[in-house]
Amino acid sequence: MRSFLLFLANDERFKNFMLRFKFFRNTAWRFVAGETLQDAIRAVREANSHGIRGTLDLLGENAQSQEDARKATAEVLAMLDTLRAERVDCNVSVKLTQLGLDVDDEFCYENLREIVNRARLLEYFVRVDMEGSAYTQRTIDIVLRLRKELENVGVVIQAYLYRSEQDIRDLLAARTRIRLCKGAYLEPETVAFKKKQDTDANFVKLMKILLDSGLYHGIATHDDAMIGATKQYANLRSIPKTSFEFQMLYGIRRDLQQGLAREGYNMRVYVPYGSLWYAYFMRRLAERPANLWFILRNLFRD
Ligand SMILES: Cc1cc2nc3c(=O)[nH]c(=O)nc-3n(C[C@H](O)[C@H](O)[C@H](O)COP(=O)(O)OP(=O)(O)OC[C@H]3O[C@@H](n4cnc5c(N)ncnc54)[C@H](O)[C@@H]3O)c2cc1C
Repeated sequence: MRSFLLFLANDERFKNFMLRFKFFRNTAWRFVAGETLQDAIRAVREANSHGIRGTLDLLGENAQSQEDARKATAEVLAMLDTLRAERVDCNVSVKLTQLGLDVDDEFCYENLREIVNRARLLEYFVRVDMEGSAYTQRTIDIVLRLRKELENVGVVIQAYLYRSEQDIRDLLAARTRIRLCKGAYLEPETVAFKKKQDTDANFVKLMKILLDSGLYHGIATHDDAMIGATKQYANLRSIPKTSFEFQMLYGIRRDLQQGLAREGYNMRVYVPYGSLWYAYFMRRLAERPANLWFILRNLFRD
């Protein structure tokens, strides 16, 4: 089921078919804050009121023209200006294929550089999300290149990839802040663990490397076992609760997000918004096929 839903995440015909249905769109709002920046800011403010920080993601990926990538870049730049004006506690997440990685690496680098530079002036941090394994090396290369010039940029590493431990070591050597997650894309066995227990074991191993590094990293998971292992390791090594942060996705395990914040852990919620929500939403369904029930419920409500 997971593989099938991830396959459909990239299927244009299925997407065009499903987007016609109101019940499908209504289900997406459980995981997406809304279509506009103001919707997203409202969601971040609500999180802030519980002591939870945000990271805003303008949805969109795989821009196929310079024009589309420039448009996304301009929107992210405008988002940064609005965040500063609205004074919400939040940073920004971007995807490199949204900024033109499919078009040209150098063009994409310049777009990211412009965003990170503007964010630096406004005192924001920019997190580069990690996409499918075809993009891993180029994403890391671009982040490491930019990291030589600017400090306020970090990247995501996926525990399901065999290569991730080496990638973490390379990124730490350049003092780069990392968000660790399990990984959300359809990957072949040649590059990624297929069994949940193998990915989980690698997650714990990588989490320990990150916590020992002395840099401020994000541990992004909703999995009680991963959260428990992180708390336990931090305790064992006397690592203060505020030396790292937990991160979760908008609409998932709100109780746990608020509970961790109340316990004194730094907590950040990833808040996606915009009209291009289809692929993001399908990945959330794939993570937990039980979410398909929400779709059915909305179908019978309509
Ligand atoms: C802040 C953040 C940023 C991320 N950025 C990236 C990225 O850049 N690249 C990338 O590949 N992946 C990214 N991910 C997604 C990540 O890779 C996983 O696919 C996702 O977090 C599910 O894994 P899990 O650690 O929650 O564990 P799982 O073992 O998948 O889930 C553990 C438990 O969490 C709950 N849960 C998990 N997912 C859902 C869901 N969709 N709906 C309802 N409940 C759910 C369930 O209770 C489940 O039993 C990000 C995740 C987070 C939290």
